[in-house]
Amino acid sequence: MSYKVLSRKYRPKTFSEVVGQENVLTILKSFIKTDSIPHALIFCGSRGVGKTSLARIFAKTINCPELREDKICSDCSICSEIDESKSLDVIEIDAASNNGVDQIREIIESSNYSSINCKYKVFIIDEVHMLSKAAFNALLKTLEEPNKNTIFILATTEVERIPLTILSRCQMINFKTLNKGVLANHLKNVCSKEKITIDDESVSLISEESKGSARDSLGILEQLMTSLDRNIDVENARKILGTTSNQILFRISRNLLTSDIKECLKDYSVITKNGYDSKKFIHSLLNYFRSAIYYKLEIHNEVNDIVAIEESEKKELLKYDIELFENLFDELIKLYELCNKTENIKFIIESNLIKLCLVSNYLNFNEIVDSKEIKEEILTTEERVENAQKDKIDKVQKEESVKQKKNPKITTKAFDKSVLLKNLKELKDENHKLLIDCDFKLEGKTINIETKNNLLYGILKEDEKIEKISKLVNEIFTDTFIIRISLGSKKEEKSESGDFKFNEKKDKLFESETMKNLFSTFDCRVLDIEKEK
Ligand SMILES: [Zn+2]
Repeated sequence: MSYKVLSRKYRPKTFSEVVGQENVLTILKSFIKTDSIPHALIFCGSRGVGKTSLARIFAKTINCPELREDKICSDCSICSEIDESKSLDVIEIDAASNNGVDQIREIIESSNYSSINCKYKVFIIDEVHMLSKAAFNALLKTLEEPNKNTIFILATTEVERIPLTILSRCQMINFKTLNKGVLANHLKNVCSKEKITIDDESVSLISEESKGSARDSLGILEQLMTSLDRNIDVENARKILGTTSNQILFRISRNLLTSDIKECLKDYSVITKNGYDSKKFIHSLLNYFRSAIYYKLEIHNEVNDIVAIEESEKKELLKYDIELFENLFDELIKLYELCNKTENIKFIIESNLIKLCLVSNYLNFNEIVDSKEIKEEILTTEERVENAQKDKIDKVQKEESVKQKKNPKITTKAFDKSVLLKNLKELKDENHKLLIDCDFKLEGKTINIETKNNLLYGILKEDEKIEKISKLVNEIFTDTFIIRISLGSKKEEKSESGDFKFNEKKDKLFESETMKNLFSTFDCRVLDIEKEK
């Protein structure tokens, strides 16, 4: 028997062998059970999550007289032909290489003939978003006038590239990206069947590296199995995969947060000396920072792909401000994109590590400038009067709230941001931390929540999150509001006091230890710092 690579050998052949797609299975099984199979389906999801495998299994299940739900077919010709891509009734097309109108016309032509051996004729078009415009138009005509017993399954990783006219005629099935736990179980299963010795850390490393794809996870396992003679340990696995250890990631993160340029560059030289992949290192660092932000916001349990950070390291990292994390995270995303384009990856990373240290130092100055004393100095007389009045009102409100303390929920009809935040704080609700820096705009019964950065926007825009916030808002206020989340632009300092602040920051930056280190390390001088336009 010829050797089969693991990803082919363990490609699921029945519904019960599919991992991590419970929702999809429920939907597909119910189509079969109720005998209401749509004539066009779109399978969308990232690569390697089982779209085409499930399309085949679905085609087998609706055509094989024996295969039902979890029952395994005892090798009928229909199933084995589909498995080997030899069936005349279940036709697979890769749109990435057959994207022209002629190929689609051929399919349409053949869809007019009834099936030969099977009840249903099934067309599986993989990477359907690659079709040309003319090809999509031709396909649309067929979808508009479907033949009885002909089914189209369109698989795609980029559903947004499919014309709406096509989408509206298909039943959409969303595939989940597999989480690390599901992948780890899958890998352990395969290892025990294949008699591969592997430690837990390596399993977790492979799950992380395969980014939610079952196919990729088995590809990586295969690579390690072959190189390490079926005996996989994390140290060697890291060397082969070129991934940086969490200890180094922690050290660099801490040095970035404390603006220690020297140590950052030293750590990076260790990475390059050991032959680790620089681009992967930046990706791992990004992931590490992202995870730290989730820990900081205390919502790490709500997402699956969080890097496990050791307790002592977590404690040390979480001392720093969320704003600092977010800014470094933003810069790291840009750096990662840059790594994909450049040939001088080492220099680019070195220069950017320095820049990142300066970014965190710059932010520390923001803190100083934003401190109360300095703010007071910048204020005009009018602003001082206004502040004094505000303090007075705050005092009255504080006294009132003391009176109401026994009943923390203030219920009023009119929406008020401060009332909302106060309640969330008292309820110790995690959303308090997320919403505190957002802008709230009320339009009729709609509350527009404007976030100031991409990361927060990403977290808040999730349907589940919006639902939670809506529920809280509608509990606190005795009225029904609709919540909308949008991404606003970052605050800009335009006014004179903004320039004043900038100059002050600039002066402090010049005198800083970081700059002194920079000058001595590179034997250079900075002539001026310009404000970003
Ligand atoms: Zn069969």
